Amino acid sequence: MTQIAQIFLSTAGLTQDMSGLVLGVIGETAIPYRPLKVLFFIGWLYLCLYCVRRSDYSSLVHDKYRYASNIAALFIGPLHLFVLFIGDTVCKIQDGELELSEVPGYAVDCILERSVKKKPRRQAAVPEIELHDTSGRSFDVVYLKQAHDNKKDRKTQEQTEQMILDGVNARATDILIDPKDEAEYTIRFRIDGFLRVHEVLDTKQCNAMINSLKAIAGMDIAEKRRPQDGAFMARIPEGEIFFRMATSGVLGGEKLAIRVLDQTRKVLGLSEVGFSADQVRSLTKIANQPRGMILVCGPTGSGKTTTLYSMLRAVKFEERNIITIEDPIEYVLPHVSQIEVNTKAGVTFVDSLRSVLRQDPDVICVGEIRDAETAAMAVQAAQTGHLVMATLHASSNIGAMVRLMDLGVKPLLLSSALSVVISQRLIRRLCEYCKGPAELTQSQLDYCEKHEVSKEQILMANGCGHCSGTGYYGRTAMLDIMYMNDDLRTLLCSQQLTPGDMKKQGDNRFNSSLRKEGMSRVLAGETTLKEIKRITMEAG
Ligand SMILES: [Zn+2]
Repeated sequence: MTQIAQIFLSTAGLTQDMSGLVLGVIGETAIPYRPLKVLFFIGWLYLCLYCVRRSDYSSLVHDKYRYASNIAALFIGPLHLFVLFIGDTVCKIQDGELELSEVPGYAVDCILERSVKKKPRRQAAVPEIELHDTSGRSFDVVYLKQAHDNKKDRKTQEQTEQMILDGVNARATDILIDPKDEAEYTIRFRIDGFLRVHEVLDTKQCNAMINSLKAIAGMDIAEKRRPQDGAFMARIPEGEIFFRMATSGVLGGEKLAIRVLDQTRKVLGLSEVGFSADQVRSLTKIANQPRGMILVCGPTGSGKTTTLYSMLRAVKFEERNIITIEDPIEYVLPHVSQIEVNTKAGVTFVDSLRSVLRQDPDVICVGEIRDAETAAMAVQAAQTGHLVMATLHASSNIGAMVRLMDLGVKPLLLSSALSVVISQRLIRRLCEYCKGPAELTQSQLDYCEKHEVSKEQILMANGCGHCSGTGYYGRTAMLDIMYMNDDLRTLLCSQQLTPGDMKKQGDNRFNSSLRKEGMSRVLAGETTLKEIKRITMEAG
């Protein structure tokens, strides 16, 4: 019997000394051999050892009390874990983290070790996101150092970090926080160009979050009415993300707009933006010409900057000196000198452009042409042996030329400076997981029949968990490229058309080409008729 017990105890992981001690205890009782009793004893011992292991990794135990907790688990076994669970559940219910109805589910999670296995103690201490101010100081230094109620502030910090992380994970380009009424604030994310409500918080809780954000963005927490600008950054396992923040006092409280400048998203190549193989070839050629001007136009949020960056990527950086002037810098580009416009500090587009011209640049990228002075300098630079790339707020290619003429650029100068004008819009892509055949109206069915299109080719958005119920996931560009040729140059200089006529004609042409391009995207199963209708209506 002693041999069998010895084997049992050694499998239980006990040392020679300890098993000797246990065997001694069995021996001292001097009772006749009772297998059930021995089995029960061994079972209990196993259970206690298992409880020690659970207690050692349990997130329910504070590190300070872990040894005491392990010893308690060794002696009273499952009872100890039960007490820990009850204590934790009561705390969670009091803090509002757990509803009474969720307790059975939580108990099952605890028994199956789901949360314990997912988050071992040592890993849980490393947060997935850390906020820093622009000089790299952490939240602890900036916000928590003067905190009186440390526990509460720590919780605010966690909430703020979680909200930012949620935004990043949801691919948000903007995060907006504004008062819904006196009692509540709304937090919204702009995803694929559309705002979605992320959560509604009570004013007190949200004010604490706003203060923490203002502190990390280097703003004055006490100033709640006057508009303020700031910036901060976040470190996530994939890299760094920068945020630009603006606040202003509005009726009922304060409004925050946070722009997400995600450095971890890579700069797309021309083909990834949506250009065809032929277009990529000709644009790469133009991007490597010694002089000229490439204009990318479209309304706000149409992805102009992304296209501009992909054009820059096509430039042979080894042979050319590339300088960009941006507001703000959205991606960090290797081998490129990037200048950020800062109106407050007196660094404007015009000043930067003037200084850049003295640095022997080959390629100059102007984030956006907004005023007459910048327009004149950009056109002049394009004519004097530089390649200029710029974005412009205009609805179509001809509209862009009219806009430059409005800004005082002479048609003759413009016609000789311009190389190519690109207009673009972003359309939402159908979600791969839930797209399905569209329900068509009679007139649409007639159209299909007339153009010999199978109606199964036309898809619609349904919505699922992957796309948060919208039916769309991600966006792609629709582009209209106009290469300047002699005909266009003559037309531009002839002055037979007034700018008004030109714009009207251009917009009509752009709209019809947009519809045509859109229809081909629908037939390719990339997007829906509804989306194309929305884009062309906006353009018109
Ligand atoms: Zn979906």
